[in-house]
Order: sequence, then C-alpha cells, then structure tokens
Amino acid sequence: MSKKSRPFKTEVKQLLDLVIHSLYSKKEIFLRELISNASDAIDRATFEALTQPDLIASGVAWSIRLRADKAARTLTISDNGIGMSAEEVEQNIGTIASSGTRKFLEQMRQTDKGKDAELIGQFGVGFYAAFMVADKVELTTRRAGNDQKAVTWTSDGSGSYTLEDGTRDSHGTDITLHLREGMDEFCDDWRIRSIVKSYSNYIAHPILLATVEDPKDKDKDDAKADTKEDAEAEAKAKAESEAKPLNSMKAIWRRDKKDVSADEYKEFYAHISHDHQAPQETIHFSVEGATEFRALLFVPSHAPYDLFMRERKHGLQLYVKNVLIDADCEALLPEYLRFVKGVVDSSDLPLNVSREMLQDDALPRRIRKSLTGKVLGALHDMLENSPDEYRAFFVQFGKVLKEGLANDFENQDKLKDLLLYATSKTTGTETATLKQVVARMPEGQKLLYALAAESLEMARQSPHMEIFRKKDWEVLFWIDPVDEWIAQSLSEYDGKEIRSVERGDLDLDEGKESAAKAAEVHASLLTAMQSTLDADIQSVRFSTRLTDSACCLVTDANAASPTMERMMRAMNQAVPKSKRILELNPAHPLVARLESLHAEEPAGDKFKACVELLHGQALLQEGSPPKDPARFVKLLSDLMVRADAPA
Ligand code: ADP
Repeated sequence: MSKKSRPFKTEVKQLLDLVIHSLYSKKEIFLRELISNASDAIDRATFEALTQPDLIASGVAWSIRLRADKAARTLTISDNGIGMSAEEVEQNIGTIASSGTRKFLEQMRQTDKGKDAELIGQFGVGFYAAFMVADKVELTTRRAGNDQKAVTWTSDGSGSYTLEDGTRDSHGTDITLHLREGMDEFCDDWRIRSIVKSYSNYIAHPILLATVEDPKDKDKDDAKADTKEDAEAEAKAKAESEAKPLNSMKAIWRRDKKDVSADEYKEFYAHISHDHQAPQETIHFSVEGATEFRALLFVPSHAPYDLFMRERKHGLQLYVKNVLIDADCEALLPEYLRFVKGVVDSSDLPLNVSREMLQDDALPRRIRKSLTGKVLGALHDMLENSPDEYRAFFVQFGKVLKEGLANDFENQDKLKDLLLYATSKTTGTETATLKQVVARMPEGQKLLYALAAESLEMARQSPHMEIFRKKDWEVLFWIDPVDEWIAQSLSEYDGKEIRSVERGDLDLDEGKESAAKAAEVHASLLTAMQSTLDADIQSVRFSTRLTDSACCLVTDANAASPTMERMMRAMNQAVPKSKRILELNPAHPLVARLESLHAEEPAGDKFKACVELLHGQALLQEGSPPKDPARFVKLLSDLMVRADAPA
C-alpha cells in the first residue's frame, strides 16, 4: 500500500480540536483509555480463538506493554490482542464518526470544563484522548490471521491522518505517543505506575512497564553507583521490576468483597460502562450449589442518553472459564433492568454458548432469575435504608423499572413496592410509596385513587380533586405517561383496587342526596343541555364530587382517560371515540343562571352558547383543548361584550 493521506470527518476534527484545546482536567486519563482498548483487544482475541483455533498461536502470553523513552519523549502502549486491518483502522479511528462523537460534542458544549475529560470514554471516543498529551500519534497494528499485513496510521491531530504499510511480526497494536511540550511526566516511571494503579488496576491482563532512561540522566546515575557491582545490582533490579505487572490482575469479581476498595469498583465500573461517575449501587455476590456463578453488578447514578433508544446496546458481560464470551449479554437480565451494568462469570456454561441457549436453557434462566432477585433486593434495601438515594435512582430509572410491571409477573409485587408517586399529600419533590399511602389511609377509605395529568400543577388544580380534598383522602398523581400504560398491571395494591378519580363510578356517599334533589328540580334543564351537547357527551348529570368548580367531565369505567387519549393522538394512534359524562355542581350559581336562560328561551342561542362554554371550560380544566377553539373564543368574546363591566 502506498502512503495515503486522508482528512478526518468534520465531527472528528471538531472533537480533536476540543480534546487538544479545551480539555484541561486530568490529562492522565488518556492512559486509562488506551489500556482499556488494549485489554478489550486481548479479550476479543481470546474469544475469536475459541472458534478459530489457528488464529492465535497456542500458549501466547497475553500482555499490555508500556515503554517510556525519556530521551525520545515517547510513550508506547502495545498489546498482542486482535489488532486491526487497514479497513478497520479507517472505520474505527479515521473517517467514520460514530454517533457517539456527535453526542459527545453536544454534551461538551453544555458541560462545565472540570468534568469534560470524564465524558470522553462514555461516548466511545477514548482513543482521541491521546491527543491531549501527544502532538503526534503513530499506531501500528496487525490483525490476527495468517494473511494479514501490518498497517501504520499517523496523525498530528490537526486535520488529517496518513495510512501506510507498517511492520509488526505478529498480531496486536502499538500506539506511540510523541509527547507534547511539558508532558514529560508521562515518561516518568513513578508517574506511570501510579496512574495504572489508580485507573487500571482491575485490568485482567498483565500491564508491564519498561522505561528507557535518558542517557544524560544515566551518566548521572552511573556516577552515583560506586562500584560495578552496584551498577549490576541496579540493572538486575530494573529487569525484575519490568517483568512484574503494575496491576494486580486478579479479576475484580473473583476477589473477596472486603478486599476491594470503592475506588477499585468505580474504576472497574468505568471500564465496562464508559461512565466515569461513580455507580450508585454496587452488587457483588457469588452463588454456590447447583448453579454456581459470580456476579458484580452496578446501578449507574444517572441514565445514559440513549436509555430509550431501540438500537442501544445493553446487557452484562458474560465470562465463561475466563473468556469474555459476550460483552452485551442481554439475556441475563430482563429488559426493564437494562440500565444495570456488570459482569457475570459462570464456569458451568459451555464456551460455545449461543444467544438462543442463553434465552432458553435452564441454567441461564436460573442465573437470570437470581440476578433479577438480587437487583430488586438491592433496590428494596436502598429504598428502606437510604430513601433519598433511592429517590434519586427513581428519578433516573423509574420509567424503565415501571415497564417491568407489565412484563414480569413473577416480580410484580416486589416492583409495586418500588414505585414512588407524587400525591395530593406530598409537597415539592417529595414522593410516597404505595405502602406509605396505604398505611396512612384514613378510616372509611376503601380504595386507592389516582389521577393522571400532564403536570403536578394540573393534577393539583383538577376539579376531580375537590371531593378528595374535602374528605382528606390521598390521591396518587400519575404524571409520567408510562403510569397510565401500566395502570392495568397496577389495578390493585395490597388487596386494594386502584381507581382513577376521573371515573364516573366513584361511589362516594357524599352529596348523593343533593345531587338527586337537583336532578329532580332541574330535569328539563338537564335534558336541554344533553341535546345541545349530544354529539360529544353521553349524558349530563349532577355531581357528588364537586365543591368549587361548576362542572367536570368523567369517564366510563372502561374508557381511556383524557390524558391517555391525548397521548395516543400525539403518537398518531387511532383513538376510539368515547363520549364522556358532564357533571354539574348542584351548589354552583351557574346552575341557577342556566336555569333562568333555559326558562327565558328553552333552546335559545344564549342558552346554547352558555352550555357550549361550560363544556369547553371543563375540557380546558383537564388539559384538553375545547372542541372548536375558534368558536369557543368567539362565544367568550361575545359574552364579555354583553356582560356588565367588571366592578
Ligand atoms: P471505544 O473503545 O469506546 O469503542 P475508541 O475511540 O477508544 O472507542 O476506539 C475505537 C475503536 O478502535 C474500538 O472500538 C476498537 O474497535 C478499535 N481499537 C482501539 N484501540 C484498539 C486496539 N488497541 N486494538 C484493537 N482495536 C482497537
């Protein structure tokens, strides 16, 4: 291949520009990113070797080698992993900007300077971090396989890169960083060791370091060594130290919980999730007996940007007999726990385990059941012991967790206990569990009640709340659109039916008498109103639930609620036309006014206009638009013109 020069894609250029000019903090993370890539490349190689035994020579000693050359001011990171072909180099670190690159750029524009470096790994653009410390990066790589050739990629990070034939005896990748002015610290033996210890200790492959001293410094050192023996002893000590890995290497999930520090968990979590904020919860356990496995799971502290994107990769890492079999094994947890990250290590599964087997076989199913139970158990503990922390979790992941109610019948009760709602009795950002709401139910209240609305504000001001305020009964507010979707799965809690307060059949004893009396007195008014609104309304009746408002709309037991209808319409779904019931407050002065208009001229325009306005205001109050907004506004304006000037 002759040498070719290629421009970077625009997004990559912008990204590099940011990396070079505005990522001030924690430059040392470049090493974590490159070591992490090297480790992944070795994992890929061990995995591919399973099915292609000729790919890798047997008995290969996997390693990640660092070589710091002080005189040349270079740091080289080498691995003997899977390597890349020329096409892969171009795809992975060249022209094609991943969707992550764009997201990263967007996020960077909104984030404080201090945090930016933390973001880089999260978006799958870790390699470019090298340009924080290097003004030239050379990558020579050779893909595993007999007919593969080495290729060298070089760039100064400004606008383009070159690609040409390279030399490398066997599979793997060498990345040489030509350090920028003032970045000499990254050639320093002690500095490198400390970076690896703090960021990459969990890496399962040995990380070895060789430092080549600057001859100028060496002369000084030699002068210090008094005798030849001293010099030899020093050289021997150096050789030994180069053969000793910088990292502990034991897989973190195989270690005893009490020997792993919070920082180590955090770094490992960052490695597998690309999220550099500490996880909110760490669940580390092993199961023995008929099914044996180890697991290290994490609940992130914040939702990833793509949590609700269909194509998002998720799942746990699955290790079988020390080989990473699947980096996104979705079958190990139910979909609604897709935010959980982590590793499962089972030696009982066969190395050639397939995705189908993971879905259907008894052993993976038992593992899945056990993992699900552990995660839900950990969430329960968090709710009990650190409610504030749990609330923060629920804000991030509650929506996803709720999906489980409709899908995981086995754990439905546990999931119900994990729900949090704002209610008519909570204030600010406060929430309550169903258990708490039941525990404080006043005597006489038999059912649980809920109101779906678009915002807390609208829920609080809904006319449907009037009777509940009066009775001092608590109502759950369903503000999250998912709440209504899962309403059917959440039809009861602790043996108590959960009923929408918008339903026609509220069965409250209050006010029955006055409603019945009003119905008698105003029978002809009700009929006239009904015939005016016949196209939209099933019936007009006197209400037992209103204390202040003039009217409200209620639904049949099985009809979709107005919030649900609006949601379906917004998603372009056909909405079954259901006529609702208009309820009037028998104590409201508007009733008398309507009665007198009706008496003046039973089907007169004034009467009809008033009835239409009434219907329109009931719609507005629940967050729906009036049926014909232009007509509504006209009727209202006419009324204002006619009305006495306000006092
Ligand atoms: P990420 O690792 O998050 O995907 P990077 O920008 O760090 O993002 O790397 C991009 C891709 O380049 C990797 O996904 C991998 O396919 C490839 N790559 C990077 N480093 C190596 C390596 N040492 N060996 C083999 N492939 C590598």
